[in-house]
Amino acid sequence: MELTLALTKQWMKLFAEKIEANKAYLSDLDTPIGDGDHGNNMARGMVAVQEAFKSKNPTDVTSALKLVAMSLISKVGGAAGPLYGTAFLEMAKLSTSTNDLGLLTEAAVNGIKKRGGANAGDKTMVDVWLVAVPALKENSLTAKQIEEAVQSTKDMEAKKGRASYLGERSIGHLDPGSVSSGYLFQALLEAGE
Ligand code: ADP
Ligand code: MG
Ligand code: MG
Repeated sequence: MELTLALTKQWMKLFAEKIEANKAYLSDLDTPIGDGDHGNNMARGMVAVQEAFKSKNPTDVTSALKLVAMSLISKVGGAAGPLYGTAFLEMAKLSTSTNDLGLLTEAAVNGIKKRGGANAGDKTMVDVWLVAVPALKENSLTAKQIEEAVQSTKDMEAKKGRASYLGERSIGHLDPGSVSSGYLFQALLEAGE
């Protein structure tokens, strides 16, 4: 799948809609194992992304991705802001040489891992990215795979982020950042249809 300017805009529009529609749900997920703000954080960020697209009207993929990164870094805050921001910044950098979504999202997840230190099984958004990226590289990502990756975080014990303070008590809850990353990839699939 190739990332064009039109696809980037549609992707972010659909992601913003999913975040807005599930804002309360995402913050509810963050309540027992965090500080209850993930939905509000992400919604604030995606409103900023939509506003930046409107006011700055990016005319190429690289500047659009940079605008997403900067809006998320400045508005989301917490752990998720810098991590999603890094992901889009890495995609922006690589987009000067390729538009392949497999390669772009691979650079993104490597950035997230480097920045946050999380690996597979640590009950973070990385658990969804590490399923989505190889599938995107093979052009085979499905909604079912995304959903299964999100659900897989439920039985994990958190090793990174606020949820890790709970140790074993984090088991049995979905990871909110994995749920929002699930929306991100679901939005990408829908935008690419
Ligand atoms: P905060 O925990 O600062 O309130 P958010 O609630 O917005 O930030 O985001 C929490 C989400 O961020 C978690 O559900 C998890 O998916 C993700 N996260 C936290 N720490 C890390 C990390 N070190 N690496 C990857 N993802 C992380
Ligand atoms: Mg939180
Ligand atoms: Mg917080």
